[in-house]
This record gives sequence, structure tokens and C-alpha cells, in this order.
Amino acid sequence: MKTVLITGAGIGIGKATAHAFSKAGYRVIVTDILETEGQEVAREIKTLGGEAEFHKLDVTSTLDTNQLVEAIESRYGAIDCLVPNAGIAHKIPLDELTDENWDRTFDIDLKGMMRLVRAASPKMKEAGQGSVVCLSSIMGVAYGWDKHVHYSAAKSGVVGLVRGLAVELARDGIRVNGIAPGYIRTAQALSEKHSLGPQGLEQAASFIPMGRVGEPEDIADVIVFLASDSARYLTGQVVTVDGGLLVGRY
Ligand code: NAP
Repeated sequence: MKTVLITGAGIGIGKATAHAFSKAGYRVIVTDILETEGQEVAREIKTLGGEAEFHKLDVTSTLDTNQLVEAIESRYGAIDCLVPNAGIAHKIPLDELTDENWDRTFDIDLKGMMRLVRAASPKMKEAGQGSVVCLSSIMGVAYGWDKHVHYSAAKSGVVGLVRGLAVELARDGIRVNGIAPGYIRTAQALSEKHSLGPQGLEQAASFIPMGRVGEPEDIADVIVFLASDSARYLTGQVVTVDGGLLVGRY
């Protein structure tokens, strides 16, 4: 049985991704800083007949990341797939953006992804196979987002991370890709304080060519595809999944 480790998997896109991998036959290592939610996701998967376990993981800790990866590997061998998904998107105007705010966002949204791949890649290399799918954003590949320059910069950084890792790990049989979601109905996007909020999301639907905002499952299914053997010659790419938003005329 293949093993996937997902960060920030207690809610939103990470949760949907955990379920999608379980349906695809993977053992799912659900991780998050949200313990109750993460445990619930693992429980749901097991109730549905899948295999899952929850581990609390704050992706800003190198020690915890290394220790968790080591513990999983000691029981199941090399991890087959990593989904560095955990991210924060705080709304902070430039004149209020402190060094600490900037560093915090980068620590989670970009460095946290590198930490996980760095920890798991040695055993993946030994296995001669593996796949990584990192979460970027349309705000990292195409759009500017006011009051979120730290987020946009970190998500653009994910594109560079994906490209660099893809080339560095290709000869070891490890593929590294990214996904850039558009507007997806999750706690992050529904936050009035930090993002569009419920009303803003409804308005966004009117200028998305497919006429609706995305659901977490719309992203999860593409992540599973990118990780799968069907995408065996695909590496170093960040795929936009946005209902046609970026190619629309509006
Ligand atoms: P979400 O609903 O906010 O879920 C993210 C999860 O990550 C939450 O459980 C969050 O916990 C957790 N997290 C935060 N800091 C963490 C840390 N230090 N260590 C481990 N986990 C941590 O977000 P989402 O909308 O599903 O987004 C998932 C990913 O897709 C993110 O990288 C996001 O930037 C990206 N994305 C989302 C959208 C969208 O429209 N929703 C669009 C483009 C890209 P807390 O709730 O406690 O913070």
C-alpha cells in the first residue's frame, strides 16, 4: 500500500485531498496543527474502510517534521507521496506588514514545504520513486493580491521551489509538481477578515467562466492525478485549476 503525507489536512483542500488519496488506495498520514479536525479526518477515512492516522505537525518545526517523517518511514518505508498543503493568507497592508508577519508567512507557506521534502527525499531517493505536489495559488502564478504581498511572494516562491526540486530529484525518480487553485470554498477563502468572505466568493463566481467557485474536491482530484503514474512524464509544472478564471476575458 502506498503512503501519502499531507500537511494542513484537518480542513479545506487538505482534508478533501486526504479523502481523495484514500479512495485511490493510499494509506493517508493526516497532519495539521488542528488536532480535533485532523483526528476527525483520519476517523472518517477509517470508517469508510481506508487506512489513515493523524499526527499533529506544525510545519514551522524542522525537528518535528524530521521526527514525524522518520517515524512514518520506520513503519511503512519510504513515503510515496508528499502534499505540502498547509498555508496561511493573512490580510496585512504593506504599511502594517512587519518583518515578523512576512517571516511567519514564508516560514509556513514556503519553508514549511521545503522542510517536508528535505526530510522525506533521502528515503524516496533510495526507493527510486516518489511524487510531491505543492500548493501554490493563482496569487502566486498570475495575479497580484493587494494587502497580501507576503502571501503572493511566498506562493510565487513555491513555483521556484517546484522547479528547482523537480530538476534536482528527477534522476532519482521523484517528480515534483505544484497546483495553483483559483477561488476555492474553504475557511481560508470564506474568511471576511483575511480573504473574500462568503459574499465576495459569490461575486467571484460571476466572473469565473465556469460560473462557480471551486470546491476542495476539484483541487484534490487533480492532486491525486499529479501524484499518480498517469502523470509519469510530468515534472516541474504548476497546474492552474480555476474554472477558467485566468484565461477568461473579464
Ligand atoms: P485552510 O482551509 O485555511 O486550511 C489550511 C490548514 O493548514 C488549516 O488547518 C490550518 O490551520 C493549517 N495550518 C496553518 N498553519 C499551519 C502550520 N504552521 N503547520 C501545519 N498546518 C498549518 O486552507 P485551504 O483554503 O484549504 O488552503 C490549502 C492550501 O491551498 C494553502 O496552501 C492555501 O494557501 C492554498 N490555496 C487556497 C486557495 C483557496 O481559495 N482556498 C486558493 C489558492 C491556494 P489554521 O486553520 O489553524 O490556520
